Amino acid sequence: RKSNIAIDGPAGAGKSTVAKMVAEELSYLYIDTGAMYRALTYCALKRSIDPKDGRQLRELLDKISIILKPTSSGTLVYVNETEVTEEIRSSEVTNTVSIIASHEDVRLEMVKQQQKMAENGGTVMDGRDIGTHVLPQAEVKVFLTASVEERAKRRHEENIQKGFSSDLEQLKEEIARRDDLDSNREFAPLQQAFDAVVIDSTHMSIPEVVENILHLVEE
Ligand code: C5P
Repeated sequence: RKSNIAIDGPAGAGKSTVAKMVAEELSYLYIDTGAMYRALTYCALKRSIDPKDGRQLRELLDKISIILKPTSSGTLVYVNETEVTEEIRSSEVTNTVSIIASHEDVRLEMVKQQQKMAENGGTVMDGRDIGTHVLPQAEVKVFLTASVEERAKRRHEENIQKGFSSDLEQLKEEIARRDDLDSNREFAPLQQAFDAVVIDSTHMSIPEVVENILHLVEE
């Protein structure tokens, strides 16, 4: 049976970039659990559901299907038949998702769906609670982090490269706020699993991080 690899960590630590590369290298499936919380957030905003109303959010989640569709050019995200890959990256979604993700009712269902996706192994899953709640039995667990300054700087450079307007200080505040909400929520907060290997990427390149994780898989 192929392994599952869990990659957790704060916002902007490079989890998705690294997870994608590790998955590609091993011919594993990359699963972006953040995209699922973002897709629910997008739907909730569209329907003007209060992000604090856990019961309504759970009802919404039970009504829709969130689908991650792997393609050669990356994962496409669908809600039912509608593609929302780009839409779920908006700043409105980014700034609301942590409230939506704080509800226990929402998380229980998401975790169930994510566990099903990984039941046969061969996945690289990134998120906040993968090593602690979704895949506590994962063969490899990584907690990927970097200083908040470095994470904001990387996002900033990414934005500029894409031709987007970007404010470094504002990014830093947004990232810090999201980390704070994710780390201090009551149910399944962002936390490193006791058996996770911590990789601080502040002074590391992407290929170095990938190399490190591949070594853990071989051990
Ligand atoms: O990974 P990404 O930054 O896209 O995740 C967006 C948000 O979704 C996180 O800030 C967090 O609030 C939530 N999330 C979560 N548990 C996960 C993945 C994401 O609570 N496993």
